[in-house]
Amino acid sequence: MHAQGVWVFVEHLGGEIAPVTFELLGKGRELADDLETELAAVLLGDGVRDFAEQLFRYGADKVYLIDDPVLKDYRTYPYAKGIVKLAQKYTPEIILIGATTLGRDLAGVVATWLNTGLTADCTELSIDKTTRLLHQTRPAFGGNIMATILCKTARPQMATVRPRVFPLPEPKPRIGVVVEEELGILEEEVPTRIIKYEEEKGPGVYLDKAEIIVAGGRGLGSKKNFRLVEELAEVLGGVVGASRPAVEAGWVPYAHQIGQTGQTVRPKLYIACGISGAVQHLVGMQMSEVIVAINNDPNAPIFNIATYGIVGDILEVLPAITEEARRV
Ligand code: FAD
Repeated sequence: MHAQGVWVFVEHLGGEIAPVTFELLGKGRELADDLETELAAVLLGDGVRDFAEQLFRYGADKVYLIDDPVLKDYRTYPYAKGIVKLAQKYTPEIILIGATTLGRDLAGVVATWLNTGLTADCTELSIDKTTRLLHQTRPAFGGNIMATILCKTARPQMATVRPRVFPLPEPKPRIGVVVEEELGILEEEVPTRIIKYEEEKGPGVYLDKAEIIVAGGRGLGSKKNFRLVEELAEVLGGVVGASRPAVEAGWVPYAHQIGQTGQTVRPKLYIACGISGAVQHLVGMQMSEVIVAINNDPNAPIFNIATYGIVGDILEVLPAITEEARRV
């Protein structure tokens, strides 16, 4: 059967749809329009029917729904089985999944069972209208190059995409169709059980939702000096971010790391303190609206992408800014 349609997997937890789902629906809408095909959301869970309306508002023409108690908590086996069943019946051309912990776990299994390829951790997607090939771009060779990967023969074309690389689309009223299928798996057939959930201690506020981030790098020099970053973040009502060396030095937990092997962020204001601007850091924060860089080296690459640059010693500049911000 001829493959058609762009599908977006709906990730949800605790009754809330993950923002990356809406970001992917926004991008998926563009891809579907370019291909003159439909955009569908793939919704699995227990008691999740009511999510459909939100998915239509964010651009879906159709929702493929499997609502079953076995899908109450995310587990790889029944979720992958459900998506594969839908994909084998309705043959999508493209499947997009968020590159979250859950999405990374799920996508590989789905791709394997569908006998197709998967490009993990994409930061850009575009379509060639003539060949209908999805151009899937992601950092490669330690982030030194951006590689564009094509899945030329197998279908569907599958990609996981990092949260926050695409903007949230504007919701609009829209009417769509729900197509419901049965899961067809009994609880006894699922090889795993969820015993309990334990919440990971993170930065308090999710970095990927923060509007202001003050990030510190190796230039701070010590854990004690890193406190200056935390102070400015506190005063501005922002969240602390960090480059990898600051995390590796133990100045701040990994949950704060921004970049290729950390989080991708898109705040209104990003203040980079003593961070050189290596490509592996930039891929995680270059979409920030306003970037302020503080560095004592006027040739530091961070200045190439900064909206405002301050050349100076971080240990003098940061306390001065914090003091000024306290006064305002
Ligand atoms: P440096 O590059 O050492 O820069 C420190 C900066 O501080 C310099 O520009 C210096 O001029 C400035 N400075 C020093 N003293 C002062 C002072 N007193 N006042 C003002 N400025 C001062 N990095 C990440 O951040 N995130 C990632 O997710 C990530 N993933 C990676 C994945 C791979 C596979 C690899 C190979 C690398 C990864 N890296 C990552 C590391 C990355 O390549 C860089 O090494 C790192 O980003 C550099 O961190 P930095 O800017 O804090 O340190």
